[in-house]
Amino acid sequence: MSDLVLFWHRRDLRVSDSIGLATACETNARVVGVFCFDRAILSQGVAPARVTYLVGCLKRLAEDYRQAGSELLFLDGDPIVKIPQLASTLKATAVHFHLDVEPYSRTRDERVIAALTAQNIQAHPQWDRLLHEPNAIQTGNKQPYTVYGPFWRNWSSQPKPAPVEVKLPPSALTPAERQALTLVPTIDLPTAQELGFTWDQPLTQELGTRAAEQILTKFCHRAIVEYDEQRNYPAVTGTSEMSAALVFGTIGIRTVWAATTTAMTEARSDEARTGITTWQQELAWREFYQQAMYHFPSLALGPYRDHFKQFPWRNDETQFQAWCEGKTGYPIVDAAMRQLNSIGWMHNHCRMIVASFLTKDLIINWQRGEKYFMERLIDGDLSANNGGWQWSASSGMDPKPLRIFNPYTQAQKFDPEGDYIRQWVPELKPIATNLILSGNILPLTRHQVGYPLPIVDHAVQQRLFKDLYASVKGA
Ligand SMILES: Cc1cc2nc3c(=O)[nH]c(=O)nc-3n(C[C@H](O)[C@H](O)[C@H](O)COP(=O)(O)OP(=O)(O)OC[C@H]3O[C@@H](n4cnc5c(N)ncnc54)[C@H](O)[C@@H]3O)c2cc1C
Repeated sequence: MSDLVLFWHRRDLRVSDSIGLATACETNARVVGVFCFDRAILSQGVAPARVTYLVGCLKRLAEDYRQAGSELLFLDGDPIVKIPQLASTLKATAVHFHLDVEPYSRTRDERVIAALTAQNIQAHPQWDRLLHEPNAIQTGNKQPYTVYGPFWRNWSSQPKPAPVEVKLPPSALTPAERQALTLVPTIDLPTAQELGFTWDQPLTQELGTRAAEQILTKFCHRAIVEYDEQRNYPAVTGTSEMSAALVFGTIGIRTVWAATTTAMTEARSDEARTGITTWQQELAWREFYQQAMYHFPSLALGPYRDHFKQFPWRNDETQFQAWCEGKTGYPIVDAAMRQLNSIGWMHNHCRMIVASFLTKDLIINWQRGEKYFMERLIDGDLSANNGGWQWSASSGMDPKPLRIFNPYTQAQKFDPEGDYIRQWVPELKPIATNLILSGNILPLTRHQVGYPLPIVDHAVQQRLFKDLYASVKGA
């Protein structure tokens, strides 16, 4: 009997605070990691920035395994075939991994579990990526929550698990095992380019666990206390910028939560305590959307609200392209889209502004925006992205659905000096702030600086959207 078990990494690229890895290590077996490049995922509109980030984090993870005297193996292909093959070739007794809420992952995992079981190899799936697994937080009627407020009240009242200690044992492969690996060819860690993705900008989010821990420590010592005040201003670094680390699990969610409770203990003012609570609420939004995706997988395919299935979207292709390229003539919208296109990340408040603009001003189906975001975001995540888009489009679980953002008042309120707009739309730099924010830039001036006229009239489109919304709701 071999004394080897595998830990299959997916969106948990770390060797600390990992429930599944800790369980694998408790078996007293050698523990070897594996990551499989799943072409089915990589072929579905994945952002080059995200793949570049993934590969960089895998490099750090492989170093962590090496330092512990173990290793991280890489496979290329269908995990349903490759993972059981590898386990059987190495005569591993078990494969440990973490569960996911996404429909594709759930189907894949069921099939991997069946294939492993058929070969008498134990499959050990466990929940890890949420503080509370999807079935743990339910309404009084044992139903999943569909409204965030009551979800937060229940979720925040539950005790939170502490970070998990992992003791990765030295786990060198034997010469015979290494020889056997030729039967299931493992690959060297590919570059993003070798996987078919080109991203030639520097990544704005740093790679790996140590970087994530440092960002968390810094954020919880400083910006978190002002988070409630600063989080909506895109020109200010007022948010954690930890989203990619949380999506790829380079840091454990229990570690993140523990840092917030330490910050709360050390907080000296009501403002600080409010900032910390507000940030904890964002972590709860993350869990709310993930439990929603788990319980309502059809969210991935279309609107939560049935009447939205018939919504008569205008879907003007030229306007969609202008939105994608940041050339709508609405400065705050264009700044945000250009930020996304340039660095693969966009400030949360701007995500709401551009999503509202696409759906309520251009009257373009939110699913086009959802897809475009997934093709660009370094932190692209089905549950959070879908939740954000459905919230913005009014098709989701929001109990007050008909929200329309006015791009001018949003800019006046949240970019009052026009700094964010000028950073990303440099042709507007010479124009007076009040004109940039109000949109009252003369056509001739727009022409002179090479900035487009507004592609639609916000007031007209707002009325049109409301009429269309009333018609589908009535029907
Ligand atoms: C249309 C739209 C699309 C979005 N797409 C994504 C996406 O693909 N991936 C993604 O991680 N987030 C998405 N969000 C949520 C949010 O914009 C980002 O999580 C946030 O901007 C990341 O920056 P940060 O790490 O500085 O966040 P912080 O403000 O520091 O928040 C801390 C963490 O809480 C979580 N979080 C914060 N806000 C939300 C939210 N509204 N929903 C879910 N989780 C949240 C994130 O994990 C984030 O890193 C989207 C929001 C909208 C409106």
